[in-house]
Amino acid sequence: MPLPGRTSAERRRALLAAETFTEDITFAGRHRIALGFPSSYDVGMSNLGFQWVYRLFNREDDISCERFFWDEADDDRRGPRTLESETPLGDFPLVAFSISWEMDYVNFLKILPLARIPLRREDRGEGDPLILVGGDSARINPAPLTPWVDAFAMGDGEKLAAGIADVLRQELPRDEALAALAALKGIYVPAVHGPRAEGADEGKVVVQQFKAAEGPLREPPHTTILTPHTELSGKLLVEIARGCSEMCRFCWAAYAMAPQVRTAADNVLDVARRLRPLTNRIGLIATAVADHPDILPILNGLAELEYHIALSSVKIDAISAPILAILAKQGERSLAIAPEAGNERLRRAINKKVSDALLREKVQLIAQAGFTNLKLYLQVGLPGETDEDVRDIVRLVDDLRQIMLAEGRKRGRLGTLVPSVNAFIPTPHPPFENESLEDPEALDGKLKLLAESFRRMPNVTFRGMPVNEAIWEAYLAKMGTESEPILLQAATGVPVRRLVREHRETIMSVVRPIANAGADPARRGVFDPAARKASPWGFISKS
Ligand code: SF4
Repeated sequence: MPLPGRTSAERRRALLAAETFTEDITFAGRHRIALGFPSSYDVGMSNLGFQWVYRLFNREDDISCERFFWDEADDDRRGPRTLESETPLGDFPLVAFSISWEMDYVNFLKILPLARIPLRREDRGEGDPLILVGGDSARINPAPLTPWVDAFAMGDGEKLAAGIADVLRQELPRDEALAALAALKGIYVPAVHGPRAEGADEGKVVVQQFKAAEGPLREPPHTTILTPHTELSGKLLVEIARGCSEMCRFCWAAYAMAPQVRTAADNVLDVARRLRPLTNRIGLIATAVADHPDILPILNGLAELEYHIALSSVKIDAISAPILAILAKQGERSLAIAPEAGNERLRRAINKKVSDALLREKVQLIAQAGFTNLKLYLQVGLPGETDEDVRDIVRLVDDLRQIMLAEGRKRGRLGTLVPSVNAFIPTPHPPFENESLEDPEALDGKLKLLAESFRRMPNVTFRGMPVNEAIWEAYLAKMGTESEPILLQAATGVPVRRLVREHRETIMSVVRPIANAGADPARRGVFDPAARKASPWGFISKS
């Protein structure tokens, strides 16, 4: 969405004027933090993790935290500044980034030079800010950012923010501040711990996160600032659970965030009730939204408060007529589910416990509830996949399409199925972390077969992932420090297609490790401690 204002200063004023805070923040603290999201304002303000950490820092005594974003208009002599006070980033003792998507590394690398902060951490001295990175990227694989980042915050903001604030309050010289940060649990400081955390306790950095038993007691993370200038437009986001009980073998979120932490329904509804005067739109956030055992009481409570409720996607086995009725009653006609694979055999292999019969039964319920648009998240290139499995995706979509159409005809409203097919991307932490990305040519062939088959299928709109994007995404997820020249080149604006071509050998050695070629099929998807230890993220531990 286009943001207001022509210059960055005009934009700041207009954005601030349109914001509504859900908690009072005074910005009177003596110790200042600049907290950035290395993407545009509308993307950053839609990110609940970023919004929540902003609140956590500002709740700390004597701490004042301001925001900044990646703004193309900052590419002028003034450089990036904070939204609240237009202070240059170099004037803050601590510049923290929340990075939840590796694609944003490139903007991170652009922001520091524009702010006249030395990019390499070794070149920073007394008077330069400490650069800290938190968010999902830090806890998944911080290795590629180690040349540029002073400290990584690995884990839940609630467990880490107070310790970071304590270090800031002490106003220590740079080396002492780094040592103090390194002494905190869950903070990884490459200059102190070493490039592979060799100097950390037992050579590992332990991610700090809530235990399952703490979940019900927890204040649910929720939006700190409502703004019309995001795609969510004034929607209150509330996190109801983190992690997922399904444990699909490819899913980093389920494994990296295990055990699942669920917020008590009463706590969710308390927040919703308190903030109802500010908005009538709410979005529930969770790794898998309907995986919460009290999802129905939560939805009923929100409906009683007359909220318009949005769910990002619904876990298939949790779909029920009452849940669908609540969503349909408020006019929802679209839903997204994730069968992941075209048949039961492959679903079993990835630990997705959804039979074809269950899938048909749930799609029938969805159609009967009046939903006409159904998005299906699917993957190609999964470990052990055959050509027949790919053709089964076509058969599955056709089968589900018939169910939707039959129901639609009764209601006089035919809908659309949207198979959204991504390549399987091996990521750090789940059992499939050492699997290979599918051979690019084979991947291309599979996606073309699907595009051709769905082109001829009425009421179906196919969305496929470009192969170069898959290669790049797979590389970003698992790369180590060898990526430094590639990321620096990306930050100069070199397109992904060229990067993949020019660095093919390096990239392929990471996304298609030779060890996997001809791997024993019986061992596929089985966690390999030796491979984990050797991986760039091998020092990250859960305990
Ligand atoms: S159901 Fe979704 S969130 Fe849960 S483990 Fe599977 S892929 Fe991950």
